[in-house]
Amino acid sequence: MSKIWNFYAGPATLPAAAIRRAHEELIDWEGTGMSVMEISHRSKEYDALHHEAMSLVGRLLGLDDDHQVLFLQGGASLQFAMLPMNFIPPGGSADYVLTGAWSDKAIKEARIVAKARAAWSGEEGSYTRIPAATELDLDPGAAYVHLTSNNTIRGTQWFDFPDTGDVPLVADMSSDFLWRPFDANRFSLIYAGAQKNVGPAGVTVVVIRTSWLESANGDLPTLLKYATHAAKDSLYNTPPAFAIYMVRNVLAWIEANGGLAAMERRNRGKADRLYGVIDAHPDFYRCPVDKGSRSLMNVVFRLPSEELEAKLVAEAKDAGMVGLKGHRSVGGCRASIYNAMEPEGVEALASFMEEFARTNG
Ligand SMILES: *Cc1c(COP(=O)(O)O)cnc(C)c1O
Repeated sequence: MSKIWNFYAGPATLPAAAIRRAHEELIDWEGTGMSVMEISHRSKEYDALHHEAMSLVGRLLGLDDDHQVLFLQGGASLQFAMLPMNFIPPGGSADYVLTGAWSDKAIKEARIVAKARAAWSGEEGSYTRIPAATELDLDPGAAYVHLTSNNTIRGTQWFDFPDTGDVPLVADMSSDFLWRPFDANRFSLIYAGAQKNVGPAGVTVVVIRTSWLESANGDLPTLLKYATHAAKDSLYNTPPAFAIYMVRNVLAWIEANGGLAAMERRNRGKADRLYGVIDAHPDFYRCPVDKGSRSLMNVVFRLPSEELEAKLVAEAKDAGMVGLKGHRSVGGCRASIYNAMEPEGVEALASFMEEFARTNG
């Protein structure tokens, strides 16, 4: 099998070490003679794994005693609904910073159950940048402020999170969770569908400020209440055991390789290399995003024509680099270079892009 470099936006490439570990442990997990998929979620072996995965999130982020980790289902998309259902009080309202398709979906879901206002919208500027903190029109009475830390489709990313004072800060970090060290304790809630940066599809990692649960709405179906999952360490009902197992493997790989500081160095190196190629060929490649807002996770770029874009995607695929087509809603090209993408894969793509510009420019 020749090496394939996978630039898909999600589900996305996983660390080879995490996949190899699953391969080795698949048939006989921890000497049980069973795979982790087949064992009771009430067994002591599963319980240890479940809590190890939670502890890894806590350790990597340096969470304080008032924050806990949950493993939920329904993807980030269910969080779009659960968040307002739980935390916008009757008659209240929440603020949303609109930086792309995912934040638009988030506010739309909120508006089904409550009032939500846009604290800023990048729609007129085609979502090509992240606002400065001073541009946000924040309601001091808002139930929370929601932002999308990395805009997977548009290729923009927040680097400095706004100070929202006493208003709880919430972020959808689906496509950049754990890419660098940051102060997670400032957030009242963080959620991330695992399938971009921390594991396979099927589990959503949530970090929640435990004391915030006291102000949550109570009149909700059991499974839609954060408090249900928090009280039972995400073991109220059957958790997605295999997905959580894979998250554990990925987080153990991050920890063994120097933690979030090392991830940040690795990710900055990769993004610098790709944006360097784009900037060095201004007549051929163009990044549609403001320089200061460029995502280090999803590198979005255009070529002089859609024909050339299709040609690049096809030729890269023949050369073993897949998933470079931009999101169907915006076109162009996109290289997703999450934590697990090896610098070697980015180097292969960068060299390919240099050669492609030389022969097609
Ligand atoms: C992919 C993505 C989502 C949607 O995640 P699902 O798990 O498919 O619901 C939400 N937000 C962001 C930022 C994403 O990248």
